[in-house]
Amino acid sequence: MNKLYSLEQNQGRRTTVLVGRIAIGQDFALIAGPCSVESEKQTILTAHLVKEAGANLLRGGAFKPRTSPYAFQGLGLKGLKILAKAREETGLPVVTEAIDPRDVGWVSEYADVLQVGARNMQNFSLLKETGKAGKPVLLKRGMTSTLDEWLNCAEYILAEGNPNVILCERGIRTFETHTRNTLDLSMVPAVKEISHLPVVVDPSHGTGRLSLIEPMSLAAVAGGADGLMIEVHYNPPEALSDKDQTLWPEQFGRLARKVLALRQFLGSLENIHAPA
Ligand code: PEP
Ligand code: MN
Repeated sequence: MNKLYSLEQNQGRRTTVLVGRIAIGQDFALIAGPCSVESEKQTILTAHLVKEAGANLLRGGAFKPRTSPYAFQGLGLKGLKILAKAREETGLPVVTEAIDPRDVGWVSEYADVLQVGARNMQNFSLLKETGKAGKPVLLKRGMTSTLDEWLNCAEYILAEGNPNVILCERGIRTFETHTRNTLDLSMVPAVKEISHLPVVVDPSHGTGRLSLIEPMSLAAVAGGADGLMIEVHYNPPEALSDKDQTLWPEQFGRLARKVLALRQFLGSLENIHAPA
């Protein structure tokens, strides 16, 4: 049986996911913002700064899937309300994570895109709920998942009647310890061979290292990614989560300008043909 995610099943047509005025898959999605929503000041200030630097979507977790139960768990509903205020002020649509199927209904009242995190990729009841929610879903690759498993999780959402799925490569766990995860950029063109769904890359969680985020962002763009998700904070040393992989707004601005320039250059290569 041909799956709904398959490019062939879709007669070779690529899906674009409309979020506000951005057609992800056609327009480049530059999703930026803090790891966690910490306060109104932190989120709104960061939202303005990432917008000025070139972001077209805002990220920020109100529900945080933390490794330790004693780590900051997020502000919950209060965080969602802060995100809605940031959207009102900046016009940036909001990408935020739901970690419990019971929360999906009301998280989707605040979110423009529901994020399913790496740790929840195969939470099938969560996938089914996000499939029913009527909002686009950003599905992160599980840290020990194969491409086939990841695409089958997208299928759970599509099978509920929600065609608006964006895949997000965020690195997998390997024997390498230098980086937080091994960012598997080969998945970008691999997904595009098999599926019509757009795919974005998260080099922040994918590397866990500040100095690697810009080069891996450029590599992702060169590989055909439809967007990037990057952690930015107005003052990273103060961040309550993932501060070591969080960019200063100026660093993100430089990255954004390079990404834009690289996309223009790559566009100019479209006209290059093999010699006859
Ligand atoms: C996140 O993007 O906030 C996050 C927790 O990432 P991941 O699920 O990829 O670890
Ligand atoms: Mn994070």
